[in-house]
Amino acid sequence: MATDHATRPNGAFPTGDFPAGTRAPGLPASLTPALIERLTAHVSAAPDAARVTTNAPYTGAPLADFRVSAPEDVEAAFARARVAQMSWAATPIAERKRILLRYHDLVLARQDEALDLMQAENGKTRRDAFLEVVDIGIVSRYYARTAARHLGPKRRRGAIPLLTHTTELRHPKGVVAVVSPWNYPLSMAAGDTIAALMAGNAVVQKPDTQTALTALWSMDLMYEAGLPEDVWQMVIGRGSSIGDALMDNADYMMFTGSTATGRRIASDAGKRLIGASLELGGKNAMIVLDDADIEKAAEGAVNACFPSAGQLCVSVERLYVAESVRDAFVAAFVSRTKRLRIGAAYDYGVDVGSLTTPSQLETVTGHVADAVSKGATVLAGGAARPDLGPLFHEPTVLTDVTPGMTVYDHETFGPVVSVYSYRDVDEAVALANSTSYGLNASVWTRDGARGRAVAARVHAGTVNVNEAFAAAWGSIDAPMGGMGDSGLGRRHGAEGILKYTEAQTVAHQRLQGFHPPARISPATWAGLLTGALKVMKAAGLR
Ligand code: NAP
Repeated sequence: MATDHATRPNGAFPTGDFPAGTRAPGLPASLTPALIERLTAHVSAAPDAARVTTNAPYTGAPLADFRVSAPEDVEAAFARARVAQMSWAATPIAERKRILLRYHDLVLARQDEALDLMQAENGKTRRDAFLEVVDIGIVSRYYARTAARHLGPKRRRGAIPLLTHTTELRHPKGVVAVVSPWNYPLSMAAGDTIAALMAGNAVVQKPDTQTALTALWSMDLMYEAGLPEDVWQMVIGRGSSIGDALMDNADYMMFTGSTATGRRIASDAGKRLIGASLELGGKNAMIVLDDADIEKAAEGAVNACFPSAGQLCVSVERLYVAESVRDAFVAAFVSRTKRLRIGAAYDYGVDVGSLTTPSQLETVTGHVADAVSKGATVLAGGAARPDLGPLFHEPTVLTDVTPGMTVYDHETFGPVVSVYSYRDVDEAVALANSTSYGLNASVWTRDGARGRAVAARVHAGTVNVNEAFAAAWGSIDAPMGGMGDSGLGRRHGAEGILKYTEAQTVAHQRLQGFHPPARISPATWAGLLTGALKVMKAAGLR
């Protein structure tokens, strides 16, 4: 069947020849047609389904061709998942743990294949891709080793001390729908799925089409590690086509993407009364305090603003610098930014890669043009780089940014940061808290206690002191997620796995309950219970 252009993801690539001077390499040798065929065969779709083609951001060349899932394919995937989930939930946690630890080892052993895939599909640098491998190593080890503790039965204080035996149990939700984006194709596709699987759920996932090969690769490795195939399945298609089928069949929805889509998902989940975890957009702030080590803060800002060409939900787009150190900081930051090596290479030699889709490039160039036309000053970068490939854009530092410019309070999701100065810490905190988002933030200072105190005042789900984002993100035992328009629910830690469960309290009442025994009048019984309540309070009981 012909390619279904209606399902071509994220805008059309420039047609015809690629820009003169494009030096981007072809696909790496590891991405053989046989590998791509094996991965695409895992998509739950009819053999004669409509097809969609993705393009490699480095060059615009066609990359992979997928069968597109129809709503009936999504329903069929859920039906298979529902059957498989029953025996998966009955599989001892020790066995689930063995599978996950094998998956961990496979991801590390085959990382070159994963890095090639991520770079080919997303256009990011190898360093940025490697961070996703690290992330999946951390997440899979953590949930393999802690799931039994998080999920195991827990004795709770009973209604009547000694007489009520109360236990909290955790049951899997059933079949979880996971919608994952294109910007961190391995981290986002596998990270949230791992916890759902470990909790005994099956998963039907819709990865973003642009980076579906990486998601399918991850699922393929999990099969190799021992996961029964129907327990984790993937469907491909636009949200407008299969989003309703996903929502209508899911027992829980794990969504990562924009705030606009997140609101729609939340509303639909509300109508069905199912839970949803929403990891959404941000406009993250970094505060440089007046006592910060300027060189370290400037280096930290580079790491905060330009990973994956700024297409990172926790990357920084607003820099607030104390007036007294502003000039020194800006000089150090701008000179580092100008030295960054931009380009396409399947090795570790490049600092900043490509944007991923034509629509991303359009947004980034649009935000910069809007700011410049309204009086912003470009301190570094500022332009697209078609000489490097169709979707490259320079890391860009702006100043003189004012309200009314799009970039002031809208997420760019690209390599563009605005620098502002502030007079005192109260003003810095107020500015950092001045958008409707609240995902991630970063504070720089030589005084750790001061940094942590300022961090606690910032309206964001994660705040890093003297780090950009990796300290909080990598603190896997602690929750990660957004406040305000940045989301609902958390990944990582206990919350990241318990959200995929139904809590059940089983209370076994022995001997005597709250009703009066046969020979005691209700009034006497009320008096006895009142006395007992007073004793329990006086004894310091909870
Ligand atoms: P998006 O437009 O919201 O799309 C995200 C995914 O949702 C896409 O695969 C999209 O598929 C799908 N989708 C759209 N409508 C749907 C529906 N009704 N039901 C089910 N799925 C539906 O977001 P994006 O622009 O691709 O991703 C970038 C955004 O994600 C940024 O705002 C970024 O900050 C955010 N993000 C947040 C985190 C976090 O952890 N907080 C992490 C990464 C990214 P189609 O496009 O094919 O329709």
